[in-house]
Amino acid sequence: MSKHRTASPAGPHGPTVAPLRSQANDGAGSPAHAAATTTAMAATHRTRPSTAPNQVAGSSVSSEALLQAINLRKTYRKGKHEVPVLRGVDLEVRPGELMAVIGQSGSGKSTLLHLLATLDRPDDGEIWFNGQRIDNASTRQRDRLRNRQLGMIFQFYHLLPELTALENVLAPLMITHGYLSYRVQRRRLVERAKTLLETVGLAERLHHRPRELSGGEMQRAAIARALITEPQILLADEPTGNLDGRTGQGIMELLRSLNSQSNLTIVMVTHDSAIASQADRVVQLVDGQVSGS
Ligand code: ADP
Ligand code: MG
Repeated sequence: MSKHRTASPAGPHGPTVAPLRSQANDGAGSPAHAAATTTAMAATHRTRPSTAPNQVAGSSVSSEALLQAINLRKTYRKGKHEVPVLRGVDLEVRPGELMAVIGQSGSGKSTLLHLLATLDRPDDGEIWFNGQRIDNASTRQRDRLRNRQLGMIFQFYHLLPELTALENVLAPLMITHGYLSYRVQRRRLVERAKTLLETVGLAERLHHRPRELSGGEMQRAAIARALITEPQILLADEPTGNLDGRTGQGIMELLRSLNSQSNLTIVMVTHDSAIASQADRVVQLVDGQVSGS
């Protein structure tokens, strides 16, 4: 979908957090990139066509958003039962912001995040990322997008149990590079993965498997894995949901420093208002709609 592929190393002696994106990747976030994106967005700017009852009249593609949901709807069907979960969600995520979406258990937070991450498709509505509509992209385009531009972390980490922390972080690069290219560049990529693991505080845990890590450490490894492809946005589903208060706070502080020092855009969904309140902006998911965005 996009040409902002990010294969350059952060360098083995890089600073603690910034920059996550290398110079060679200065497309993402650079003025030139912003201008190109704005032009692309202006070209596609138009008013939403659907006229469903819940929608806010006139919601349109924003030139200021990095990621935008317009009138998203999703209903799960199980046999005769229909569970309407999202009933016209409008959301605008601006570049460089740390946004929290708060909502009770079952309010549709994971559903929304999965749609934004192109892991699932909405029944209706649109999702725009970087000036391109992505909800209706082909499966191949969506796979590429997820492999290169969207990072994701989850409540239960989803690390591969047989791989060490370092191998887990390297795994996405094997996919983006392909076997041969990965072999050729392996030394450099390993250095990059090590640097990232140092950044998230796991310098001493490179060769530990997930079962040999604490919950907080597993989440740190998952964050490093999500960032190894230098994504433009990190989508986090209850990143502190399985951690005790203090460990969760440590993860929140790591996310905040990645946001402020590396200008990483983050959307985090959580039911924890103490965690959410540390974001730049908090919106609420209630009755299938977002308020306060
Ligand atoms: P949250 O993350 O806010 O706890 P979810 O997005 O996981 O909420 O779920 C919202 C609602 O949708 C819940 O009532 C849940 O039971 C239902 N749901 C989620 N996924 C599915 C599915 N695959 N099939 C049927 N119902 C689902
Ligand atoms: Mg959830």
